[in-house]
Amino acid sequence: MGRTVIVGNGVAAVSAAASIREVSQSEEIIICSAEPYLAYYRTKLSNLLGTIFSPPEIFIYQPSWYEENRIEVMLGQIVKKVNLKNKEVITENDDNLPYDTLIITTGGSPRLPRIDGLNKHGVFNLRTCEDSFKIKEYGESRQDFIIAGGGVLGLEIAGALKKWKKNVKLLVQSNQLLTRQLDPEAAGIIDGMVREQGIEVYYNSEAAEISGSHKVNGVYLKEGNLVSGEVVIFAAGIHPEVGFIEESHILGKAGIAVDENMRTKDPNVFAAGDAAEFQGIVQGRWPVAKIQGEIAGYNAAGREVFYLQIPPYNLVQTLDMQIYSVGVVSNENVETFSSGNSSSGFFRKLFFSQGRLVGAILIGDVAYSYVMKEAVSSGNDYSNLINNRTYTEEIISKMVEEYQSRNRSI
Ligand SMILES: Cc1cc2nc3c(=O)[nH]c(=O)nc-3n(C[C@H](O)[C@H](O)[C@H](O)COP(=O)(O)OP(=O)(O)OC[C@H]3O[C@@H](n4cnc5c(N)ncnc54)[C@H](O)[C@@H]3O)c2cc1C
Repeated sequence: MGRTVIVGNGVAAVSAAASIREVSQSEEIIICSAEPYLAYYRTKLSNLLGTIFSPPEIFIYQPSWYEENRIEVMLGQIVKKVNLKNKEVITENDDNLPYDTLIITTGGSPRLPRIDGLNKHGVFNLRTCEDSFKIKEYGESRQDFIIAGGGVLGLEIAGALKKWKKNVKLLVQSNQLLTRQLDPEAAGIIDGMVREQGIEVYYNSEAAEISGSHKVNGVYLKEGNLVSGEVVIFAAGIHPEVGFIEESHILGKAGIAVDENMRTKDPNVFAAGDAAEFQGIVQGRWPVAKIQGEIAGYNAAGREVFYLQIPPYNLVQTLDMQIYSVGVVSNENVETFSSGNSSSGFFRKLFFSQGRLVGAILIGDVAYSYVMKEAVSSGNDYSNLINNRTYTEEIISKMVEEYQSRNRSI
């Protein structure tokens, strides 16, 4: 055994460190963290927006965990380069850190449009505790907020801003909300619920320029009209944070390309989480980063474990809404069953392809999300269930019964 250096300090990093320590008591583990805090639950930042909190409240592990597991964390250390040939990591302070094994878990950076005015006061994104503190400070005395992005993060930020008693305008590039999680029918229901809470939604709207002399007073859209607002928060996805890697042979189309052991083309280098690209896809999701971190750690420490792509799933709880989505929710070439409507705030839709559940959406009551997730992951054949049945609720009841009897007999 030797020294493993982990670059980045999010959930993928600490999951990797935990796996290494499970396999080996003697491996030296060093985490290099650009942020000045121990790893924290980044997903909690959206709900906490507009509140006063201190980072230790959301730490994944308290300092004692690092001590007990002999994991050294170098806080505030930005890695500016990795030299794969010499097996060393170089920090911004020009410190050279040799490694035997390297795990890259540098996550993602918010994607910003290439438009004028991004440097004006009042333009933000939300990725770190520092971002949250800056928005709190600047936004405290301001009322009108614009969020650019109609995905999960955009809606979560909208929910926090409403709790903070702010006015919210939502710019959505496509013609519906939650494009990755919902089909147009379900998105229409969510649109109604979002507007009911006083949020203005602008579809097919792309920011073209930030307006204002040195402080934001609005956003010009590509169509030319001005949406007024004092604060703009971009929530339009991420790109993997891999700019410090010069050796392009370990890079894929977007992130660091890894195999099912989370190993790159360099046998001593692994990657996981939002920085990693598996089968051409960067998932950008917490549970994936956690599992990939664990797998990278095990393999780095010599225990071979394989990563299986898990179907995309999301539970969105914001603006008094509960939305669960799993799998592929496109209406093309599938048989769909749905129940509920916008007035009840309750909606369920199942997407079957050749008898197999490929996707599901639950709005309002998400109690059976685990049944839907298992059904999509397992690829079980439900042909018998859906043939001659037209009532969605009947199909769901039968799926729940089957799930329960399967899990009782295990
Ligand atoms: C507000 C918010 C809400 C979210 N909500 C959800 C949700 O509801 N569900 C969901 O599935 N996902 C959600 N996500 C996404 C989820 O948080 C990420 O997928 C997950 O955190 C990725 O973990 P990671 O360890 O790969 O990277 P990160 O958590 O991004 O950690 C990477 C770390 O590496 C550090 N780093 C980067 N470059 C360097 C460098 N050169 N040197 C040293 N350190 C470096 C960064 O500073 C950072 O600390 C949300 C994200 C945000 C921001």
